[in-house]
Amino acid sequence: MEKSLCTLAAVIFLGGFFDAAQLTDDTTTEVHLLLNSTSTAASVTVQLQHHSTAKTTPTAAQKLHTTAVTTKKLHRKNISRDSEEENNGEKKPASKTDEKKTQLDCPPLGLESLRVDDSQIRASSSQRSGLGPHRGRLNIQSGISDGDLYDGAWCAAYKDQNQWLEVDAIYLTLFTGVVLQGKNSIWSWDWVHTYKVQLSNDSVTWKTCMNGTEEAIFEGNQNAWSPVLGVLPVPTVARFIRINPQTWYINGTVCLRAEILGCRVHDPGDSSEQDLGSKDPLDFRHHNYNEMRKFMKSVTKECPDITRIYTIGKSYTGLKLYVMEISDNPGKHELGEPEFRYVAGMHGNEALGRELVLNLMQYLCKEYKKGNQRVVRLVTDTRIHLLPSMNPDGYEEAYKKGSELAGWAEGRYSFEGIDLNSNFPDLNNIMWDAEEMAIDKSKVSNHYIPIPEYYTQEDAMVSPETRAVISWMEDIPFVLSANLHGGELVVSYPFDCTVGWAPQEDTPTTDNAFFRWLATVYASTNLVMANPNRRLCHHEDFQVHNNIINGGAWHTVPGSMNDFSYMHTNCFEVTVELSCDKYPHASELPIEWENNKESLLVYMEQIHRGIKGVVRDKMTKQGISDAVIKVEDHDHDIRSAVDGDYWRLLNPGEYKVVVWAEGYFPSMRRCHVGMQPRATICDFTLTKTPLQRLKEIRAKGLKIPQDFLQLRLRALRLRKLRATTKVLNQRRVGQRTLQEERKARGA
Ligand SMILES: [Zn+2]
Repeated sequence: MEKSLCTLAAVIFLGGFFDAAQLTDDTTTEVHLLLNSTSTAASVTVQLQHHSTAKTTPTAAQKLHTTAVTTKKLHRKNISRDSEEENNGEKKPASKTDEKKTQLDCPPLGLESLRVDDSQIRASSSQRSGLGPHRGRLNIQSGISDGDLYDGAWCAAYKDQNQWLEVDAIYLTLFTGVVLQGKNSIWSWDWVHTYKVQLSNDSVTWKTCMNGTEEAIFEGNQNAWSPVLGVLPVPTVARFIRINPQTWYINGTVCLRAEILGCRVHDPGDSSEQDLGSKDPLDFRHHNYNEMRKFMKSVTKECPDITRIYTIGKSYTGLKLYVMEISDNPGKHELGEPEFRYVAGMHGNEALGRELVLNLMQYLCKEYKKGNQRVVRLVTDTRIHLLPSMNPDGYEEAYKKGSELAGWAEGRYSFEGIDLNSNFPDLNNIMWDAEEMAIDKSKVSNHYIPIPEYYTQEDAMVSPETRAVISWMEDIPFVLSANLHGGELVVSYPFDCTVGWAPQEDTPTTDNAFFRWLATVYASTNLVMANPNRRLCHHEDFQVHNNIINGGAWHTVPGSMNDFSYMHTNCFEVTVELSCDKYPHASELPIEWENNKESLLVYMEQIHRGIKGVVRDKMTKQGISDAVIKVEDHDHDIRSAVDGDYWRLLNPGEYKVVVWAEGYFPSMRRCHVGMQPRATICDFTLTKTPLQRLKEIRAKGLKIPQDFLQLRLRALRLRKLRATTKVLNQRRVGQRTLQEERKARGA
């Protein structure tokens, strides 16, 4: 912007300064300062000069309106560098774009992310405890029953203009804005149309935010779900902030959910200030489509030997679905090496998974190069596929609004409005129906359930993203996967779909024990989930189940990706809900990486559990594809890949394994799985049936070999002998019965 101001500006913000290295652009802001003294609530207006260039001398031009102010340094550490995101996160057109952009430079205090504790939020009154001040958090979700203990907003007990919601920022903070949202409820409509903002240093003396000489009136909500940004006309330093509703939806009550934007004022003497970042030198910011592409390219440039980018298709609007492959031999399947995938961003607005997957690529690349033994082993022994954005159209929509203003559902669906997580073919009901109809249940296939015809028709409501992922799943012999979501803190495992359309019912698979293990591996290593003192995200307490849950027991989802993966392919997949906040502010990304880093790694390592091996032809030693691997007491078979290699995830134990393939005699082995995280090798060699050999010889038009004819003759003779013996035996039994009858008659 106005470069001349940069040189003009001097560090005169009361002897302190903003850490300009973190700022995004050249912008000018006025700042009010509430004195840290209760008696003199004098205000200071400061003209701040932000600067985009890192390492430039921090600058601040000021016009002081008072004297005797203590030295303060404004701490701007947590500010997003992503100017585009910030700028796009606006609701109403600004008269001065730059000014508004500056407001958004300050990160949210964390009402949504729960960084702000319940004890920091107070209110004038509450309708009841379920609608208490601790519920006044942006995007908080209510329970589905009316009168729930955890309802969808803070609601004042009275409908008057004396009601307020107060947030204690604990530290001196440069407040720049308020994000307001109505009440989440399926029972009533409540939201605030207009409000005032008050600031204080002691929560006793309050100053109302001014717009020139008048008290500023902020525009609030027009519906219950869209967050609306209110920018303070003059950013002001204080510790406490109040939202004071003035008018509200006529048939409703005074209810709101909120987020506060503010930058913490840095105090060099304050040792309580912790470093909330990560030591890993990763690109912590939100990447839109173009930035993501550029970023992925930069990773392949840094690690060309172990990475490869490929696409599996396109979104509805034509954005490519990029996958990063990480392996010691990228581009090819190695015999015996299992294939892993992470899928993120199926719901476009659940943006954390996308960034974590991007972080993971960069981390694996850097650590591999550094010789980190754990990473080297993982990359050498596993072929890893990372799809950071399954629904890029949805993401772009949410990205335009930004992390605070995208709301709860904007960008969740595909461009066509399809929820991708219920867009896969429902194979559960096909299998369950077949089992119900069958006379012999064991004759119904328990795996590789084919896709029904209606689903493959061109006019079927199937999104191009879903189709692309299905063919990807069919092409690659994936063994293990996780589907990364956001908005809760829990890991859910199949089945997602309940039997008989029950809305909620525990619906375990035959591999329930292993799925629970997988879910536990992630949940117990995620730093937030593992914290026993954490607050619940919305209204469901998953901590009572150790942060894991069966999908059906949570809520039924027919046509989910997890269920499809398990029913149609060999791949075991769980859903990870990564954080309470679907779209955390960029400043939260380093800590979220730290929260999930170990989980992401240790989960991938679980691919090396159970048994694995190669199924070969006894004569030719060639691998046999599509061989069925059946484990006793596990009513879910898996099949060998093209080269005959297979992987069967299992908990430690002793297993009877039977392998068969078309044209071969079945083969049985006992395989032992130990406690160590290493798959037991259990190879199989199968013998072709004579009939199959004959068929193949005939198909090739070859002469039937002598030894084979002799074998066949012997087999035929044997069969004849058996038949004769059977007949003789039957006759003998018949004669004996006759004799006994005669004896009985006394003959
Ligand atoms: Zn989701």
